[in-house]
Amino acid sequence: MLRILSSRTPAFSSSLRQGMLVRSLCASAAQQKPTGESSIQMRDSIELVYEPKVDGQAAHAAEDLNATQVIGRIDLTQNIVDKADRFSIQISETTHIKGSALQECVYLNHSCAPTCKVHFHNDTLDFVTLQPIKKGEALTFNYVTSEWDMATPFDCTCGAPGCVGHVAGFKHLKPKQQAALYRDGLLSPFVANKYDTQQQK
Ligand SMILES: [Zn+2]
Repeated sequence: MLRILSSRTPAFSSSLRQGMLVRSLCASAAQQKPTGESSIQMRDSIELVYEPKVDGQAAHAAEDLNATQVIGRIDLTQNIVDKADRFSIQISETTHIKGSALQECVYLNHSCAPTCKVHFHNDTLDFVTLQPIKKGEALTFNYVTSEWDMATPFDCTCGAPGCVGHVAGFKHLKPKQQAALYRDGLLSPFVANKYDTQQQK
């Protein structure tokens, strides 16, 4: 099964060819290993696979995963920037987690029918599986669940029923698509609150 067709990774691929990025990300995960469960889960759950369709690395399940399993946990108390880019994740109107802080999770590509979601807590951001995932299956999440108005929109060709086509942020979805993501509880607190506010106007 191949559902990832739009990726954060093309811009990384030149670095990858130089052999820099994966090593630095893995080193950074390894350095953090004594501090907690999350980096252990992350290393065990995610493997990076070359994805020809996007000419870059993609995160795949390194083992069979259960539904609602945390595959990566990111510290929100640091690595915050005020400018979005292709790899960042939005946390408020003016703040974003920078891509380098996402470690292996930066390789979760976009899908309109994703296998994972992002779940925000006060100080952490978790990447959580939405369903049981078999070893080798792609780990993906829907970028518009956290991005209101994306700095780097792209055309999605994931082919999923209901694929939104042009991925430019939650703001640009059709009302029906927005309502479905809201109803399913997939939105970040920032996007959910902003949507709520707009609906009340
Ligand atoms: Zn799509």
